[in-house]
Amino acid sequence: MSRLDFRIEATAAGSRARAARLRTRHDEVLTPTFMPVGTHAAVRSQRREDLLTSGAQVLLANTYHLLLRPGVEILEKFGGIHGFMNWPRSVLTDSGGFQIFSLPGSRTLCEEYAEFTSYVDNARIRLSPERSIATQKVIGSDIMMALDQCVPSTVEHGVARSAMELTHRWAQRSLAARGDSPQALFGIVQGARYADLRIESARAITELPFDGYAIGGLAVGESSAQREDCTAIVTELLPDDRPRYLMGVGTTRDLLEAVHRGVDMFDCILPTSLARQGVAFTSLGRRDLRRAAYRGVEGPLDPACGCYTCKTYSIAYLFHLQRVHESLGWQLLGLHNTHFYLQLMRSMRAHIAGGTWLAFYQTQRTVLDARDSYGKPATHLTRAALRKLKLKRGRYEVIVRDEIGYIRDTTSGEVMHLGGGAPEEARTLYVEQSRLIERLQDGAAEPLVVWDVGLGAATNAMAAVRAVEGARAVDGSASAPPARRLLLISFEIDFDSLELALEHPRLFKHLRHPAPHALLAKSRWTNPSSTIEWLLFAGDFAVRKFDAPAPDIIFFDPFSYKADGALWTLPAFRELARLCSHRPVELFTYTCSTAVRSAMLAAGFYVAKGRGTGPKAETTIALSAPSSDSARRHELLGAEWLARWSRSDAKAPFGSRDDDASACNAVAEHPQFTAPPATPELPR
Ligand SMILES: [Zn+2]
Repeated sequence: MSRLDFRIEATAAGSRARAARLRTRHDEVLTPTFMPVGTHAAVRSQRREDLLTSGAQVLLANTYHLLLRPGVEILEKFGGIHGFMNWPRSVLTDSGGFQIFSLPGSRTLCEEYAEFTSYVDNARIRLSPERSIATQKVIGSDIMMALDQCVPSTVEHGVARSAMELTHRWAQRSLAARGDSPQALFGIVQGARYADLRIESARAITELPFDGYAIGGLAVGESSAQREDCTAIVTELLPDDRPRYLMGVGTTRDLLEAVHRGVDMFDCILPTSLARQGVAFTSLGRRDLRRAAYRGVEGPLDPACGCYTCKTYSIAYLFHLQRVHESLGWQLLGLHNTHFYLQLMRSMRAHIAGGTWLAFYQTQRTVLDARDSYGKPATHLTRAALRKLKLKRGRYEVIVRDEIGYIRDTTSGEVMHLGGGAPEEARTLYVEQSRLIERLQDGAAEPLVVWDVGLGAATNAMAAVRAVEGARAVDGSASAPPARRLLLISFEIDFDSLELALEHPRLFKHLRHPAPHALLAKSRWTNPSSTIEWLLFAGDFAVRKFDAPAPDIIFFDPFSYKADGALWTLPAFRELARLCSHRPVELFTYTCSTAVRSAMLAAGFYVAKGRGTGPKAETTIALSAPSSDSARRHELLGAEWLARWSRSDAKAPFGSRDDDASACNAVAEHPQFTAPPATPELPR
């Protein structure tokens, strides 16, 4: 019988997720659970009190490291790890297999044991299944692990098979060595990334009377999709009445996916190791506190978190601690991250028990992966990896060029931002030409209103958000950040392209930020200092534009008039011109089509040449009648354009009838040509 009295309390419909409890020699453990890693009998820079307060139930310690330092004599003297570190709750010890085979240094392996060189004194040390169990008995852990041969999940099949078979033989020896000790013992399923080996290993290990079963050898080189597949294959074969432990995994998203596939227990060094790099896991996704955007930002790291760090300090202070390499910064971030992981596990448990798991799972898998930074550079995408990605949604598909994703409209064949590189084009065409940052510093009291027509994959809107965040960072310590608030309003009728892009953060790096996730979920995002408010107006722009506050700047970026004609017609521009007739408005768009420009002119806009970008030699700027001020900054179309237009076959404004002479007259007689602004044009 099991030494852990494992009982399942609830299972989730439509999922393998389960909530359970088990009893160790020290206390009761509620699952799913996360075990903070105390490699050397200490969780990096975390006090015991903070771990207890955060609700850590089980600590993980490493047999390999404790064997070398402090050594079994010291542990024996203090009555094991519980006495040594004064830890009142449960402890699980890793067998040493992972460290022997993953740490640098020479090692030899034979049927009997693995031999490695101590990093403490260069002594040669033999670790056999029997010695590993003997050491774990001295450590006094509640749950011991059988010694395994852990190989990278990417090794060849033959290598994986022999490591797996040795692991099976060592599993039997570990059980025999445990004898009648009251300590629980888990067996480990190996088999690298090979489904056939994983199945074989799961069958072999579960034939042995372990108290629980672990999935080992993952999180060492495979993709997250491979890991999730392996996990699902193995959990299906594990008995329901024993706890399941996925070793060494992972990010918050990885944990969510594994719980969905039936795993109960986890350990990972990420909460504390990433804290050292300034990275925080939060309810809004990952935050990288090394980013200058966080300088001076008020409010807590995670408004939804109740940890000591979030209750006590501002983001600005945590940013500062990172900047000056103060160890308190690592400690505070590590405390938050550990608390967040433990809280996340409690939330998962509550949703499984409460019957709301699937909805929770669906929302969290996007939220937890949201990034505010690029994080680690993406690994190279192989063709095989690309084929596995789901690259279609609705009428849109992702095409990939040089590991950058672009959204293609399959009905028209048009590709958003192709050629220029989306973020660059967005910055040049929309953010720089509109002088967005300068205008936010002009001291006006009311917010600067920017309409983003055609949210698409949020490329233009995110270029604006990042530019404002970046401007706040580089404005120097003496001067104030932009005083004027930005009110960004995105119009979109079809969210498939954004949802598709959000599923592929490696291909759409501009979306690694909490903002687009929040916008999709709540139609609104505000930055921590409330200097940016981003609203989503869902529906047809032709209708929704009347509901929005009047704009100062318009990023006009729907699909082209060939694909998405209605927005580019003379009647549509007339309506827009009327809305803008009482205030200076600058509209920026990527086309330089004669039919579109003449529609803008006939509608009453002044029309100027916009900057070229990528393959486009020229783009277009439309100015509302009262914006004569800004007309001086732009190069209005002049006599030369008018001459070309009058010779053109397609001079009728787009969306006007061919026989509509008044529309053509409105172009020919536009004041821009008949009475150009008195002030000479400035050089561009
Ligand atoms: Zn916190």
